[in-house]
Amino acid sequence: MNGFNTLNHMANEAQVATGLEPRGRLAGKNAIITGAAGGIGLETTILFLREGASVLMTDISEPHLAKALSKAKEMAPNATGRVETMKVDVSKEADIEAAVQSLDSWGGLDVIFNNAGIMHSDDADAVDTSEKIWDLTQNINVKGVWFGSKHAVLSLRKHKKTRGSIINTASVVALVGSATPQLAYTASKGAVLAMTRELAIVHAREGFRFNALCPAPLNTPLLQDWLGDDQAKRHRREVHFPTGRFGEAIEQAQAVLFLASDESSFVNGTDFVVDGGMTKAYVTPE
Ligand code: NAD
Repeated sequence: MNGFNTLNHMANEAQVATGLEPRGRLAGKNAIITGAAGGIGLETTILFLREGASVLMTDISEPHLAKALSKAKEMAPNATGRVETMKVDVSKEADIEAAVQSLDSWGGLDVIFNNAGIMHSDDADAVDTSEKIWDLTQNINVKGVWFGSKHAVLSLRKHKKTRGSIINTASVVALVGSATPQLAYTASKGAVLAMTRELAIVHAREGFRFNALCPAPLNTPLLQDWLGDDQAKRHRREVHFPTGRFGEAIEQAQAVLFLASDESSFVNGTDFVVDGGMTKAYVTPE
């Protein structure tokens, strides 16, 4: 048997989407979403519920989670899966572990969207970023993704799953440099991209897929609260958008849905860029 046939022989048919799966793009799947009370996390929760998944919404903020839960129920009234909330600080491994283990009684996790992240207002350039802000950012944005990925793998193995999808939120700043620096944030997103790529390769033969989402600047509180009504700061960014606008959280959620579903069964290790063409642009339309 040559190398090619050996590999084909080893391919696990259970990992290949046939197109004949039950209706509902995530029917029967159990998902954890971190940062589920925020812009991208909530929109993704709603889409996942509409497509038949059960969702554990996790976030560091309990009041925001409660509001997000009622919004999710309102926006996905015909959901067939469960939806529950749990307070999780992604920088604490015990919190993530407890969230993942709580899905044991649901039949184990199939999807985790490691989405929680911060961009601190005191994050600046190499000179002005304090070590405290650097460490805080790495603890949430990088360690949080590592913990989520680690416990997803442990759970998928425990439940003998032959498919699993882990989606980690990076950013376009992991791909292009910005003259408006937030160095700790940029470094953290570069780490998410590299970590996700390596995990994708390590776990490929187990059927566990890892992809990184790279959103462009969005209309969510994370960025918009920081920009406020400073028109000069806004213009500095908008001029680089081929579409002339910030992205919407729902446009990221649609990509996450694809990556979570079996439709993307051969998509692994990608830097999945959802940016309206921003990272491909030289001169943008006037
Ligand atoms: P958001 O601020 O609306 O939501 C982030 C959520 O994460 C919030 O609900 C917050 O409470 C939660 N969170 C913060 N720290 C946490 C912690 N330690 N543990 C658990 N939850 C925590 O932001 P968003 O725009 O929805 O961002 C989601 C992800 O997308 C982030 O990783 C962000 O870096 C990334 N991203 C955002 C943009 C953008 O322009 N908004 C662009 C690129 C990437």
